[in-house]
Amino acid sequence: IFLPHLVASLEVEETYIMVKPDGVQRGLVGEIISRFEKKGFKLTGLKLFQCPKELAEEHYKDLSAKPFFPKLIDYITSGPVVCMAWEGVGVVASARKLIGATNPLQAEPGTIRGDLAVQTGRNVVHGSDSPENGKRELALWFKEGELCQWTPAQAPWLQE
Ligand code: UDP
Ligand code: MG
Repeated sequence: IFLPHLVASLEVEETYIMVKPDGVQRGLVGEIISRFEKKGFKLTGLKLFQCPKELAEEHYKDLSAKPFFPKLIDYITSGPVVCMAWEGVGVVASARKLIGATNPLQAEPGTIRGDLAVQTGRNVVHGSDSPENGKRELALWFKEGELCQWTPAQAPWLQE
């Protein structure tokens, strides 16, 4: 049986990572960026941003029928967020592992949510759940010209 979610991707991918308003208010921005930096992924976009309601609704449109949707939109628009684009081989699934389970009480220690949060409604960080959604979300949150293509000095020390 082929279980795609268990097979590490070999493709260079892009993912949208966001420090949610609670992460910004709690002073966790540096800590969260650091997890992805230290892992060895490449930062290609970064900004502090006050999200308008319409964008929050579009970003989470798949959840619009859920009972928690109005509270989710209030939460995401309650203060500035930090929007990030990260690139790398298998970055989408790897970032989801670094982030941990949606419910921070079920997230493993060592993950961002497992180490830094206690409630699903205040789980400090977002990460795209598929390469397709990575592309979709980056197009929503970043404008033309806001992403940067560059070669990190450490590149040959990360991949042979
Ligand atoms: N959420 C919530 N209550 C729930 C499920 C989700 O408040 O019962 C919020 C939570 O902030 C979560 C976001 O909605 O991160 C998106 O839900 P999803 O299932 O996509 O989780 P994620 O992909 O962020 O782990
Ligand atoms: Mg999700």
